[in-house]
Amino acid sequence: MRELDAIVAALQAAPSIAVLAHVRPEGDAIGATLGMALALRAAGKIVGAYNADPLPPELGALPGAGEIRREVPIRDRYACYLVLDTSDLERTGGLLTDRPPTARLLNVDHHPGNTRFGEVNWVEPTASSAGEMAYRILRQGGFPVPEGAAANLYTAILTDTGSFQHGNTTPGALRAAADLVELGAGVEALAVTLYGNRDPRQWRLLSEALASLEISADGRLAWLEVTCAAQARAGLGLEATEDFVGYARAVRGVEIALAFKEVSVGEVKVSLRSRGDVDVAHLAGQFGGGGHRNAAGCTLREPMATARARVLAAAAACLDARGPAASGVGS
Ligand code: 5GP
Ligand code: MN
Repeated sequence: MRELDAIVAALQAAPSIAVLAHVRPEGDAIGATLGMALALRAAGKIVGAYNADPLPPELGALPGAGEIRREVPIRDRYACYLVLDTSDLERTGGLLTDRPPTARLLNVDHHPGNTRFGEVNWVEPTASSAGEMAYRILRQGGFPVPEGAAANLYTAILTDTGSFQHGNTTPGALRAAADLVELGAGVEALAVTLYGNRDPRQWRLLSEALASLEISADGRLAWLEVTCAAQARAGLGLEATEDFVGYARAVRGVEIALAFKEVSVGEVKVSLRSRGDVDVAHLAGQFGGGGHRNAAGCTLREPMATARARVLAAAAACLDARGPAASGVGS
């Protein structure tokens, strides 16, 4: 494939590479960033790993996580900037505003709405995760994949497929994951790192969020909220709430699940989830956001009550336009 070959050639040629991903990073963003950074360093490159935002606490235990730098913009000069899992340049959070004009900009992503902002763009919406694409780059280029890199790339695939539960759990994703286990990714240890090592305060915050759970009269929408006050009570930030929306989606019969999370009073981040062919990327797009068909997000600069009302109205309209719920759903 031409774009994959071009990415491999650019990485092979570059003596120094900055690796980065999107703001408010999750497992795929961080796993792909660190997987690439550790592998490229093992290949003899000078490598820096960056993100504009803090890591969710459970990702801080991944190999190499401590070296991710938050300096915005990136101040060191690199020959090449590799942007992973990021649909548009704005979602790098300003990391690249001061890059050298001669540097190469590589864009590797699986979001269908990717703006192709790079000099080379490999955009593969059928890929499960940026981590799977990163693994394909390393394999195609004959780069070494040290154990720490394998653990990170496995994490990227595991988290973006919802632990191999979502529709993007393709044979290719499972094969890549199997290869990465062979290369040293520890399945049980990583499951503990990611899902079995939570700060109890996170569960207290979750319990407040679950107490706010509401279901629409027709049972097709479920939503919960995380206020600034709740975050302050728990002593945790929004990065600790990444998987909360999954509980709303797990309600019987629900077609669209939403989490309304206050960034500050007057700014609300919305996480949207769906199943099958209900397209929440399109829904998020109506509010300036985006993402994947079944997992998307947007941010509204308005108070919680109006943000919630507007997004819920749009979500209800989206379902109405599709017609009644399939028979059997909810029973
Ligand atoms: P989450 O709800 O976990 O923050 O995001 C789910 C998915 O939607 C991820 O693929 C993420 O990259 C994407 N996403 C979240 N927020 C935004 C946004 O504001 N703009 C765009 N374009 N994508 C977003
Ligand atoms: Mn991703």
